[in-house]
Amino acid sequence: MKKPRILIIYTGGTIGMIENPETKALEPFDFTSLIDNVPKIKMLDYEIDNIQFEPPIDSSDMNPRHWQEIARNIEENYDSFDGFVVLHGTDTMAYTASALSFMLENLHKPVIITGSQLPIGEVRTDGEENLITALQIAAATDQYGTAMVQEVAILFENYLWRGNRSTKMSADNFNAFKSNNYPSLAKIGLGIHFNEDALSRSTTKRPLKVQYGMDTGVMFIDLHPGITEEILRHQLATPGLKGIVLKTFGAGNAPTAPWFTQAIEDAVRRGLVLLNVTQCVNGGVHSKRYQAGNHLTQAGVISGHDITSEAALTKLMYLFGLGLGPKEVVGYLNSALCGEVTLH
Ligand code: ASP
Repeated sequence: MKKPRILIIYTGGTIGMIENPETKALEPFDFTSLIDNVPKIKMLDYEIDNIQFEPPIDSSDMNPRHWQEIARNIEENYDSFDGFVVLHGTDTMAYTASALSFMLENLHKPVIITGSQLPIGEVRTDGEENLITALQIAAATDQYGTAMVQEVAILFENYLWRGNRSTKMSADNFNAFKSNNYPSLAKIGLGIHFNEDALSRSTTKRPLKVQYGMDTGVMFIDLHPGITEEILRHQLATPGLKGIVLKTFGAGNAPTAPWFTQAIEDAVRRGLVLLNVTQCVNGGVHSKRYQAGNHLTQAGVISGHDITSEAALTKLMYLFGLGLGPKEVVGYLNSALCGEVTLH
């Protein structure tokens, strides 16, 4: 049987960091040193190749140019490899996973993103296990020999999560990620137990198509009790702004004061697209449940249902990046593109 061929794309993050002896701060180091710390990889009978970011970065520095670089590496090597493992810092991993899920259209191969809370060189590291499990998931096939995972996913400690459903939940725990509104794609224990009902299976045979355009004219507006008209209008008047993820209370609620509704209506009339996403970590927007949510719908704000903030923001970047106008963007926000939202 042919050995699985896996490409590792090393972008940086704690997994590959080492302590600077002078400052004591963690800094990225190179891939060869990283792999040297995981001799067990050789026990996997895989053909493994790698590409590394020059220089590797802390994921706080991630931006759409890096997503394009990861996507280009995948596109250029798509036919030569069975799966891809992206090593990435945890801080913005959910954004990268969401962005790639939109950019990599018609994906049929696994793109498994992982990292760790402790550097791979440390005795109690979670990096070694995460890397090895990610490689095994990237190589996993079903009884017909087709890739088990055919989407962008995050592997961290005991779970595999859909990338565009994931959120970083803990800065301390080894189980750092979670999908609050979607089941895990696999549970990792003694074995890797896939949840086949939750895995994405595309029926299209179309080849991979990468959409590189990601429009950065987007932002979050996070509501809080006491937000003033001056502050809200200032945010809505941000130059270059096209799309906003409006982070609302509970089931998608916002102040009902006339000045608030008026400011939102004015923004929608100017052609801004506003997507309503709850500040709660679990559950979603039910805009008709309360008058405090209903008035947003009437003002032209689109329900984000149970989408994560990370997926909402990157979906706006992707849709505007396609060169679409506000009306078309709204049309796509009301549909699920790659399993990122549950529509009622
Ligand atoms: N600051 C690091 C990063 O996101 C944290 C990590 O990797 O866990 O790159």
